[in-house]
This record gives sequence, C-alpha cells and structure tokens, in this order.
Amino acid sequence: MRMHNRVEHVAELVEQACRRAGRSSEDVNIIAVTKYVSLESTKHVLDSGLRHIGENRWQDAKAKWESLGDRGQWHFIGHLQTNKVREVIGRFTYIHSLDRLSLAKELDKRAEAGNTKVQCFVQVNVSGEESKYGLRPEEAEPFLREIAAYHNLDVIGLMTMAPYEANPEDTRPVFRGLRELRDELNERAAGRDPLTQLSMGMSNDFEVAIEEGATWIRLGSILVGKE
Ligand SMILES: *Cc1c(COP(=O)(O)O)cnc(C)c1O
Repeated sequence: MRMHNRVEHVAELVEQACRRAGRSSEDVNIIAVTKYVSLESTKHVLDSGLRHIGENRWQDAKAKWESLGDRGQWHFIGHLQTNKVREVIGRFTYIHSLDRLSLAKELDKRAEAGNTKVQCFVQVNVSGEESKYGLRPEEAEPFLREIAAYHNLDVIGLMTMAPYEANPEDTRPVFRGLRELRDELNERAAGRDPLTQLSMGMSNDFEVAIEEGATWIRLGSILVGKE
C-alpha cells in the first residue's frame, strides 16, 4: 500500500475506535514510528502530512533528524541511555521512556543547560513482563514525587507497551491498568501537575488502546511500513 493510502486507512480505524469509545479523534495523536525505514521514506511520511515522528535509537534517528528535523516534532520512544541525553535534548520534544531517577536528573541538567524544557512520559511496565523497561506501577507515585523538583521536566503522562497478543483484545487490561494508574496518581496529586496524556498502543493493538483512553498512539508497521 502507498503511504497516502496507509494514512487514510489508519485514520479510518482511529475514527471508528473513537466512535466506539465516545471520544473525539482530535484527542488521539498519531506518532509515525520511522525506526524501520530509510531517510527517504521518512520524508514521504512528512510529505503525507504527518507531523509526529517516533524513533527509538539516536544512532538510527541522527541522519533523519539532521535532514528533516525542522519539519516535524520528534518523539524519543525507546530506552534512553544516560550518555545519549546530550544528543536528544533540544532535538526531541518528547521523551516517552522516562523510567529512572538517574535519567530524570540528566534530562533536567541538559535541558537547563540548553535553556529548554522537555516533555516526558513516565514509562510503566503494567504487564510485568521481565523483558520490558519501565517502573512497576507501585513505584510510579514515589518517582513522580521525587522528580517534581526537576523544573525543566514537564511530566505530561504515562507510557506503556503491551505484550504482543494474537488477539489484541487480550491487551485491554494493560491499557486499562495504565489509565486507572494515571487517574489514581492524579487523585493523589502525585505529580507537580496533573497527568493528562497516555502514550499507548502500537500497530497490533492501537484500537483497543484508544478505547481505553490513549491520547498518543505509536504506529510503525501499519502506517509507515517496514523495509
Ligand atoms: C517499534 C515501536 C513502536 C511501533 O511498533 P509497530 O508495532 O511497528 O507499530 C511503538 N512503540 C515503541 C516503543 C517501539 O519501539
């Protein structure tokens, strides 16, 4: 399928999921994950009108960012090594993988030095899979209280990854769990500001994630394809 057709196809699926959930599709933002594709294809993604680009390694994103950086908003969605923070600050507007104090500290320090702010999602491992990064749900509240002191970080929400399930319906408890955790953290005023955003849902399961309240979905294979 061509880029243009894939964008229309996905927009239709997003619209339908929103209708089922009684939500407005304006509240669901699509991140085009370009980690599987070339610079040339990333250009096509931007030409198609998509503005949010997701990458999970600086090494892979570098050439794309250097060529196309000012045409989009960049989201760092993968595990972020502390020694890569310097490269990412000022280039990526959003970090979806804030999962430890040492990283929060380094992001805050580099943002301060660059006279910028960084929008962050705290990554939570709701499913409890060993292979996944992220805080355990019960660690989220003390973590938020601790990082509230880092004034160059704007913590806007939570992020999670569900396990791959042959039946996407089986991911629902993970997404619902993240939403309920977000609501509970807000009730307890855990963060400096209320958490409004939920980054959840990938190609296989974004429709379920939308039904459970996703405000950012991260789509690679279904939207951008693989090369
Ligand atoms: C690769 C990746 C995605 C997109 O994966 P698809 O299944 O191809 O949509 C989303 N989020 C993260 C964190 C990823 O690493």
